[in-house]
Amino acid sequence: MNIITVPRAMAVWSRRLHREGVTIGLVPTMGALHEGHRALIRKARLSCDALVVSVFVNPRQFGPAEDLTRYPRPFAQDRALCAHEGVDVLFAPSREAMYPPGFQTVVALQELARRWEGTVRPHHFQGVATVVTKLLCLVRPHVVVFGQKDYQQALLVQRLVEDLNLGARVVVHPTVREPDGLALSSRNVYLTTAQRRAAPVLYRALRAGWAAIRSGIRSEAQISRIMHDTVAAEPLAQVDYLALCDARTLEPLRRAAGKVALLGAIRIGKVRLIDNLLVTVPAKKRTGGRIRLGEQRSD
Ligand code: AMP
Repeated sequence: MNIITVPRAMAVWSRRLHREGVTIGLVPTMGALHEGHRALIRKARLSCDALVVSVFVNPRQFGPAEDLTRYPRPFAQDRALCAHEGVDVLFAPSREAMYPPGFQTVVALQELARRWEGTVRPHHFQGVATVVTKLLCLVRPHVVVFGQKDYQQALLVQRLVEDLNLGARVVVHPTVREPDGLALSSRNVYLTTAQRRAAPVLYRALRAGWAAIRSGIRSEAQISRIMHDTVAAEPLAQVDYLALCDARTLEPLRRAAGKVALLGAIRIGKVRLIDNLLVTVPAKKRTGGRIRLGEQRSD
């Protein structure tokens, strides 16, 4: 496995592979790799000839009160995982290499970046969009893989790639979870034992919302109350948001219909957890003017 730290060297490598007709895959990460990242890497490995994993803790997507300095950076373990998974290039630039003195450019999206995570973390998606654009320009991948765990981010990258004609196919891989439902995250290591026990409440709340939809409930107010009540039963957890929204635009919905996303973010102590479920709302069958669920017309 080749380790590249200099952006210009990354661009030279990708230019050579493009000339040779080799397809390139990219999995962008902030390191502290876990089984969620491994699943993305395996997915990408199957879709390209040469695979790049980037490890870069991007300062521009952290707010001033966030965990940039204490974010875990176990580089030797990350290198070993990438080598084991047959990664061709581990791209691990320094902060100074990515943002040299004089760097001025930002890439910013509109509505999609302002909702949900954007309200709680105002500059987050500008940082994400800027670094992803830069990575795509350097690596020029044919396919880039993101996790559904960060669903708003994945939608934003799909939009960005389309809007700027960046030419990569954006693949979104399902969320990898612990057996108790907690979505894997590099930040889970911050949880104390008691907090870790409380953390699956977010997934339980989203599942409760999903169960409500399956039972025929369509009103956002009711679905939202069910999700909030689930989190309220866990004293260590505070809600940032729990929402029912359109799965494509992330606009909030008054009623569940079509493809919807249940989105959630909670805080447990200083740790922030996010998660989501995508649900196709079953259409109610109409019989004799009345609406019933799951019944055939008998006449
Ligand atoms: P991060 O290192 O947290 O920036 O994440 C890098 C990529 O891994 C992003 O596309 C995330 O959505 C994805 N990812 C993180 N956790 C998971 C998970 N539990 N399951 C699937 N993908 C994940």
